[in-house]
Amino acid sequence: MKAVRVTEYGGPEVMSYEDVDMPSLGGSDALVKVEASGINYIDTYQRSGLYQIPLPTTLGLEAAGTVEEVGSAVTNFKAGDRVAYTSVPGAYAEYATVPEDKLVAIPDGVSFNEGAAAMLQGCTAHYLCKSTYLVKEGDRCLIHAAAGGVGLLLIQMVKNAGGFVIGTVSTEEKAVLAKEAGADEVILYSEQDFESEVKRITDGAGVNVVYDSVGKATFEKSVDCLSKLGYMVLYGNASGPVTEFNPATLGPKGSLFLTRPTLFDYTASRESLEWRSSDVFNWIADGNLNLRIEHLYPLVDVQQAHIDLEGRATTGKLILTP
Ligand code: NDP
Repeated sequence: MKAVRVTEYGGPEVMSYEDVDMPSLGGSDALVKVEASGINYIDTYQRSGLYQIPLPTTLGLEAAGTVEEVGSAVTNFKAGDRVAYTSVPGAYAEYATVPEDKLVAIPDGVSFNEGAAAMLQGCTAHYLCKSTYLVKEGDRCLIHAAAGGVGLLLIQMVKNAGGFVIGTVSTEEKAVLAKEAGADEVILYSEQDFESEVKRITDGAGVNVVYDSVGKATFEKSVDCLSKLGYMVLYGNASGPVTEFNPATLGPKGSLFLTRPTLFDYTASRESLEWRSSDVFNWIADGNLNLRIEHLYPLVDVQQAHIDLEGRATTGKLILTP
């Protein structure tokens, strides 16, 4: 079968599309024929070495497809089932073996592309606004990279919870998409000072929560956008990691909270995985959550997909098709 392998850390060029052996099936695993693999920003961190993983590896942490075969101990899935999963390495491939407890069924009315687009970014947006900071009616929320994969989903979920959304984006085209997703205000942080814009929009009050996935370039000003007892939710590093911060500054700035959450911890139990994924799938099926899946690449073109994602040339979800 074909897969995208990485043997050393580096730029997009270190990803190699090659023939590999079929993955071996453990007793608690299902063999999934991959129909769509989701690309996520974390894949670029794992490829570059910002997040160190054992090499060589097959990249990719999310896919949707059809169960071909199950191990002897598998009880809840059978050949022919339509499934999706996240947080299991090896999704940039034609086949993957996935532990049963990581699989969820894709409901009727949700396509493979939607299944692959929903799991990692959808469950992330879910935990950010339902658990890390529970958004309530009237809460003011600042969402950076608002036209990105997580961003567009988070806007919709926060709006559905009654929140007021201020989004930041780098281009006019992305601003239109963030508005269409429901953002009340959009700031072009490539041109405007987002901190003073947030203060202006909120009449000086600041926001209750900042969802910051950009990291290094936005972190300090993001903290200064918060109202008293506000939540600084740093969940990514698209511009580079935040390496220096003095927690003592959180006190005088209003007894602020700071957290650095990861999806893995918020879907660690079967119960939490099922809660989040079923909410996301139901919202998609009901039309309460729109996925923007515009960037489809054949698996062989994975290098271009990473170039586009890291070059800020994409919006919404990127999908690889084997
Ligand atoms: P996106 O589609 O959001 O792509 C990243 C976006 O970040 C770009 O489109 C760009 O939007 C913005 N950006 C700002 N500065 C830079 C920069 N210097 N280089 C590149 N991009 C930049 O990706 P995802 O939706 O896959 O992920 C979004 C973020 O969320 C990532 O940081 C990812 O690591 C994080 N994440 C964290 C999870 C967790 O559990 N902690 C889980 C899932 C994702 P613009 O042009 O508008 O600035």
